[in-house]
Amino acid sequence: MKSLILSKLLALSLLACTGLPPRTFDSPNLPTSPGERAVDAGSDAGTGADAGAGADAATDAGAGADAGAGADAGVPIGPPDQGWSGSIATDYLTATRYRRLVVEVDYVRGKAPNTGALNLLKQRLEARCNKPDGITVIVDTEIPTQATTTWRLADLRDLERQHRSRYTAGDTAVLYLLYIGGGYEGDTSNARVLGVSHTGSAIAMFKDAMSESATVLVTGNVIEEAVIVHEAGHNLGLVGNGVAMQRPHQDAAHGAHDTSQSCVMYWAVESSLVSQLLGTVPNDFDADCIADLRAAGGK
Ligand SMILES: [Zn+2]
Ligand SMILES: [Zn+2]
Repeated sequence: MKSLILSKLLALSLLACTGLPPRTFDSPNLPTSPGERAVDAGSDAGTGADAGAGADAATDAGAGADAGAGADAGVPIGPPDQGWSGSIATDYLTATRYRRLVVEVDYVRGKAPNTGALNLLKQRLEARCNKPDGITVIVDTEIPTQATTTWRLADLRDLERQHRSRYTAGDTAVLYLLYIGGGYEGDTSNARVLGVSHTGSAIAMFKDAMSESATVLVTGNVIEEAVIVHEAGHNLGLVGNGVAMQRPHQDAAHGAHDTSQSCVMYWAVESSLVSQLLGTVPNDFDADCIADLRAAGGK
């Protein structure tokens, strides 16, 4: 009964979004109202088919499926940082509850993060987050080679559960990054997903997809630097998905993204189309995003 109602609600939320142009390379963290978020978080109606259906809303459905996987509908899994992406933005932005920030990075063998990308992430977080006791990036666990070639949200969550060592607690907020090979269930023949911010505190980075999206002009490292900041931006509540906009700049057709191509939160930054669509790949927040983060207690 419960899941039937949720399925209906999910169907309604999908229906409400049918005006959107088809795309599947979006991050799955785009519910834009608390109501939708609640439905997504609790639903087990999302399937691989949903996630591949070609609309943001479908990708949302995939995310929702995961958020609810392994738990009763509506009940977050484990610690409170497992809600929707952007749900704990103020924990990262302010020092009110957490004076420190730790970024834990696990990676599958052969898919290790680029050091430059991790350094840039740290720099961007330091520029925006009030963490008087510091921000630390810890490259933690090398995970054995995985047989999975197409990752579903549920698979990402399973791997995280097996290897993640740190959760927000005490005086320390935690952001978790998982570097993997293969592709995402939302990939299409036209566009591959480069990264997803799939819970309030977790990001998956698709190392192969980033490397293979490189061109002569745009290297894999340049793409990785942009994607890592982009996904973290979703965890900080951008755009309009956890922190309020001070001025309209959300690209509503693309979900929680910025209308500006010169902002790291532009939708194409997390798509394999990035090097085709953008001559210069942005890797920092623009003035609108910075204003939003400041208004929510960031720097
Ligand atoms: Zn995004
Ligand atoms: Zn922006």
